[in-house]
Formats: sequence, structure tokens, C-alpha cells
Amino acid sequence: MGDLRQPTSDLLAEAKRSILFTAIRPDIVMKHGAGMYLWDTEERKYLDFVGGWAVTSLGHCPAVIAETLVRQCRELVNASPSFFNEPMINFAKLLTANSCFERVFFASSGAEANESAIKLARKYGSKFKNGAFEIITTVNSFHGRTLATMSATGKAAWQDLFAPKVPGFKHVPLNDTAALKAAIGPLTCAIMLEPVQGEGGVHECSEAYIHEVRKICDDNGILLIFDEVQTGVGRTGRLFAYEHYQVEPDVMTLAKGLGGGFPLAAMLTKEQYNIFAPGDQGGTYSGQPLAMAVGIAVLEEVLGKNLVHNAEVQGAYLIRQLEKIAAKYNLAGIRGKGLLVAFDLPAEKGSEVVKECLANGLLINSPRPATIRLMPPLIVSEQDSDAMISILSAALDKVLADA
Ligand code: PMP
Repeated sequence: MGDLRQPTSDLLAEAKRSILFTAIRPDIVMKHGAGMYLWDTEERKYLDFVGGWAVTSLGHCPAVIAETLVRQCRELVNASPSFFNEPMINFAKLLTANSCFERVFFASSGAEANESAIKLARKYGSKFKNGAFEIITTVNSFHGRTLATMSATGKAAWQDLFAPKVPGFKHVPLNDTAALKAAIGPLTCAIMLEPVQGEGGVHECSEAYIHEVRKICDDNGILLIFDEVQTGVGRTGRLFAYEHYQVEPDVMTLAKGLGGGFPLAAMLTKEQYNIFAPGDQGGTYSGQPLAMAVGIAVLEEVLGKNLVHNAEVQGAYLIRQLEKIAAKYNLAGIRGKGLLVAFDLPAEKGSEVVKECLANGLLINSPRPATIRLMPPLIVSEQDSDAMISILSAALDKVLADA
């Protein structure tokens, strides 16, 4: 091992022997990355418009993450969650200074941050709403893969998985206030929404809907939770997607772009919901110093290099370039906010297009059979998008010609 080069065929054989099967993966082993690119063990280069699933906000292997990790490793790797540590405090200060929230709980993944939000909502219900525990989420939403967050998720295919589900979740169609009002009852303690459904195929909450939902929550004394695991930290052309609507949620969850690739998540809330008792919530890696230091470095870079503005400008450019090829390939529903972009193909050939692009050195994603999603790092340039369009067009030429 060490520096000795391992043949790709050996690595793949070992992967098939020892990695627990959970996903169909191509016969590729990723080796290194820089900026907008990844390279595999055969030194094939890939232009990355998936960004580690909307994660590598600064691109691959930014110097700032390496430098921060080395510095923090030399100072403190782990003090235990029973103590405060400096980076934890400084990161919470940075997040609260740049958002409408006053309190932060740290975790390592989006699902964990959402579990925290679910627990906070139930705590609120038990303390202030006669034990109300039901949370309303939307059809086609995605909130994670723990049992509670799978139960919160509105994916039809997950309905019968891992029964019995965690009770207490109701799903209503997105942008339908009548359905939402009808679902609210005395047991409701919260509504949980992605401002833009990511895994569901990039579908936005309308501005009117968000305003209505805020009012419904206020009128009924229920919490509004925004799952910004995918939309947060600049992705949509605002630091947080709630800023598009001039509406403040009561709770917001973050992950993905927050660590720029390092496992890091957070749940933020207002002072009045600082209601957990000791033991209600925690975790060995909550506030882990390496993660905290990386989080500070990533957020300072996103803010300092104005990557939020870049996401807005480059997202608009990307959409314009897609519109230019739309008629030729019958692409429909070109949509997005900032650098969370999607479009629909004329046939259910998403996975074939992804495969063809992969073979030609481009990573894109198909969250639904006829939908392609693009979520490049926030550092993406016009030249990168031009290069992406060129490989994508060739793939569409080939795949759609076979239709
Ligand atoms: N919420 C949303 C909106 C997501 O997109 C995801 C991941 N795709 C999650 C939660 C779960 O995050 P994680 O995989 O980090 O647990």
C-alpha cells in the first residue's frame, strides 16, 4: 500500500469483496481532485458538475482546507463533547452573525441535523403544545436516511421500506396551502420544508407559498423548519435560501456545503427555542474541533471570495447556456436557483445521459428518470459551463438519437 500504485482491477475486486453493497457504482476508483476536476486511478479526468452532491463548495482539495486541518490537528483533534472548544465557539459566532439565528447545534451529517430539528420540534410540542408531535413535510421531499428522517421524507418509493416507520409525519403536496391547512391538527408541532426540493428534482417553493406557510405557522403556533442541507451556504445565490423570501424560519438545518467536503452539519434556531434539557440531544462529534475549524475556513472563504454572488451569476449563465440547446434536444423545464439547476429530457434517459457523460469526462446527476441536475462547486466559471455544455451536447446527440 502506501505510495505503491495499486492496479485498478485489484482495487475494484477488493471493493466488490469488502464494501457492503448499498449502491450501484461504476467501475471507477476516484484518486485525487483539484478545483473543478477529479481524477481516477487510471488518471482519467472528470469535470465535476455534481460537486460531491452539492458539497465541495470551494472545489476539490482547496488549500484552505488542507492548511486548516494541519494547523488544527497540531493544536487539538478532540477534547470530548463535554467541553467547549475554541473553534466550536468561533464557528457558532460566525454562523449566528451571518444568519437570523442565535443558537447552533453541530452534527456531522444532514440527516443528523434534521433529526435534531425533529427532536427540537417534538420538545417544543411537549413543552408548549400539549404533547403535539406531528410534523408535516412535503411529497417528494428528501430529509435523510435515518429512520426518522426517512419517515419525514416524502419519497413514494420509501413508503414501505423499513416498516414500521417512525410515526408522526404527514406529507402534503408542495405549493398547496389548502392541503397544508387541511393537514394541520391539534397534534401538529412543526412544518418542515426544503425551500427548493433538491433530490425531488429541483422544485422551488413559490414565494406566495412560503409567505402563506409562515403565516399558517404563526397563526397555529407551530414551528417552521427549513431543511437547507442542500440549499444552504451560497448554493442558491444567497447565503441561505430563506433570504430569497424575506421570511425567517424558526429552525434551519445545514450540511453538505457547510464543510466543503468535510463531514459537518448544523441545526440553527432562535433564542426562544433554546429548550433542550441536558441529555435530550448530543453526540460524540458535536462540535468536533477539526470539523469546526474547517467550517470556519470554508464559510470565511465563501464570504471573503463572494462565492454567493458567483453562484447567482454563474447559475444564471448556466441556465442561459442550457436554454440555447433546449430546442435542439427538446429539453424542457430548465429551472433552478443559483447553482442548483435542473432540466427535463424528452424521454426517461437520465441514467444513460449520465453514463455517456461519465465516459467522456463529465459528472452530472439524474435525480429522477427524465431529469438531469447540475450542482457544481461555487467556484465554477463560464469556461467550465461551456466545457460542460459541449460534453453534455455530445451525450444528448448520442443518447437521444438512439431513442
Ligand atoms: N436533506 C436534504 C435536503 C438533502 O438533500 C440531503 C442529502 N441529499 C439530506 C437532508 C441528508 O443529508 P446527509 O446525506 O448528509 O445525511
